[in-house]
Amino acid sequence: MRFNPKARLNTRRMGDAGRSGAAGGGGGGMPIPGGLAAGGGVTGLIIVVAIIAISMWAGGGSSSSGYDDSRMSDTGRYEHCKTGEDANNDADCARVAVENSLYDYWSDTLPAQSSASFTPEKKVETFSGGIGTGCGQATSDVGPFYCPNDQVIYLDTTFFDDVLEKQLGGPSGAFVEPYVIAHEYGHHIQNLLGTMAKVKTQQGPHSDSVKLELQADCYAGMWAHSATTTQDEDGNVLIADLTQQDIQEAIDAATAVGDDRIQQRSGGGVDSDSWTHGSSQERVQWFRTGYDQGTLQACDTFAPGAV
Ligand SMILES: [Zn+2]
Repeated sequence: MRFNPKARLNTRRMGDAGRSGAAGGGGGGMPIPGGLAAGGGVTGLIIVVAIIAISMWAGGGSSSSGYDDSRMSDTGRYEHCKTGEDANNDADCARVAVENSLYDYWSDTLPAQSSASFTPEKKVETFSGGIGTGCGQATSDVGPFYCPNDQVIYLDTTFFDDVLEKQLGGPSGAFVEPYVIAHEYGHHIQNLLGTMAKVKTQQGPHSDSVKLELQADCYAGMWAHSATTTQDEDGNVLIADLTQQDIQEAIDAATAVGDDRIQQRSGGGVDSDSWTHGSSQERVQWFRTGYDQGTLQACDTFAPGAV
């Protein structure tokens, strides 16, 4: 896949907290066990989820007051990103292009297809080492996540550098990060639609949490179709040459390592250990449903018998 080189980028909603070193340490923090392409990722996932759960619970009731946007410095990491050409040459600028495209897509689509009004995510915030969020302290290596409390998508970019690239090797996997960001953006849309409040059951393949995750994949597919087919005035699409293999690789990789933790507090806290995203096959299927049908209604994973 590649970006339309003429696309103009807007870095207004991008932030970078830099490297705190507070949690991850010089060695890059807790390694996710090897063998990610096989079953080993599951072990890593469980360990990571457990650590997150512990750090969340240890944070106690600080989530509502523990996040202070003003103390979050921005390193200026995205200032040089101007065009789609930059996005083709630079992973940071590719992130900007994807965010811009998601913003454009959902600012049109959400009001058109629902009674909810669109407000953008507050920010896509990149970090490494560790970061304080509206959902508590996040450590490095937790993977990308959306925090509904502050409506920020947090991306530890070493996740993509160290884990996904090593797993996939080489230039393949270009769609991994766009897919993950689109999935997290799907959680933001769910937050705006009030869908997150529907989640009552956490365990098992038919649980509400799985339905929530598969719906986020479906929403990612909705966006991907638009990004790959909507032409600008010059007849260019934002994302060209996206193949079925790109999609399959991205979803496989995200499934293998676990792509996000929704750090949501409800009542006594979410039992994150038992959360699951559904199988890779299910995720591809729902991504394709969103891609092919393009409607929020088609993505109703909560409908009886849908999941
Ligand atoms: Zn998710």
